[in-house]
Amino acid sequence: MDSTSVRPSAAERREALKQLLMQARSCTRCAELAATRKSVVFGSGNADADLMFVGEAPGASEDEQGLPFVGRAGKLLSQLLEEIGLLRDDVFIVNTLKCRPPGNRDPQPIEIDNCHEYLLRQVELIEPSVICSLGNFSTKLLRSDPTGITRLHGQPEVIEIGSRAVRLYPIYHPAAALYTPRMLETLREDFARLPELLALGPPDQPDATEPPPAPTVAAPEAAEAVPEADQLGLF
Ligand code: URA
Repeated sequence: MDSTSVRPSAAERREALKQLLMQARSCTRCAELAATRKSVVFGSGNADADLMFVGEAPGASEDEQGLPFVGRAGKLLSQLLEEIGLLRDDVFIVNTLKCRPPGNRDPQPIEIDNCHEYLLRQVELIEPSVICSLGNFSTKLLRSDPTGITRLHGQPEVIEIGSRAVRLYPIYHPAAALYTPRMLETLREDFARLPELLALGPPDQPDATEPPPAPTVAAPEAAEAVPEADQLGLF
């Protein structure tokens, strides 16, 4: 049996992504974040995208609107995408943490750990060929290595995330580039290489003769009865 015949269809994966969104909305693994957030910023875009971006954590605007990268850094991300002929609707954008750390403090290791399963599951369901990690937090997490973004940016490598092989492409975080013209220039140069990386298609996948063991995120005991509909229409 070849591996493609056992993989769920795009429609099934999108449906599973919606279920995951419902679970994330009720998540209380990080007590402080759950108590202070206005929304769970699950992610948005094309659920069948070839290209996925993983940022750090929602800020105030994202928390307010329930969407990732809608503040100044998000506007820069949209502009950089446009410059290579892509729209936000062509890609899927998520964060390492789905909830805003109060006062925009750094994500704590336990919070990154708590949220990791959601990110793994998102990668498994979206099946991107290329993942752009934006800045240090997502790069270190996805590579399971403390090497920083300054050394790694612009260098694609094939890594395994859960049961998927993907082309990881670390680049500077747009928020860092907002105030540093040289970093913005480098970010732009790194962005310009994305089309050729996407053109390579997905890397060879690990041998899968049976359905991958889907990482499950334990359903919360008391799920919110009626989730807001907003994000459901976004992927
Ligand atoms: N910075 C991030 O890492 N994520 C967002 O969603 C916004 C700003």
